[in-house]
Amino acid sequence: MASFLKGKKIYSILLCKCPRCHEGNLFVVKNPYKLKTLDKMPTRCPVCNLDLVRETGFYYGAMMISHALTTIIAVIVHFSVFHFWGWEIAPHLIFLITIIIGLFPVNFRIARAIWINMFVSYNPKANKI
Ligand SMILES: [Zn+2]
Repeated sequence: MASFLKGKKIYSILLCKCPRCHEGNLFVVKNPYKLKTLDKMPTRCPVCNLDLVRETGFYYGAMMISHALTTIIAVIVHFSVFHFWGWEIAPHLIFLITIIIGLFPVNFRIARAIWINMFVSYNPKANKI
């Protein structure tokens, strides 16, 4: 990812990096499609020591973000498939559900990254513990 975005929230969100230092990873395993480790996060950022599990149930709010992202994906797929390509409703729904299930691991992680970025700002001096 382009380093000119470093310092912007979009960098932390798209790369799932720590929202404070933009160096440490938010998730233990980078590949979201390894489903056994999909939600495994370190308790603290390995670079700046930011508490990534701020309180019990902190990431429940990320479900609302995930819902919004899923809705955006569904609207985009709906308009492109149903209105522009003129598919019938059954193949349209099968395609839509396949896309939503296929993108779920990415959606899950992006939603968590957006959620923690709502509460923590970038601090370039934070990467020195
Ligand atoms: Zn950090």
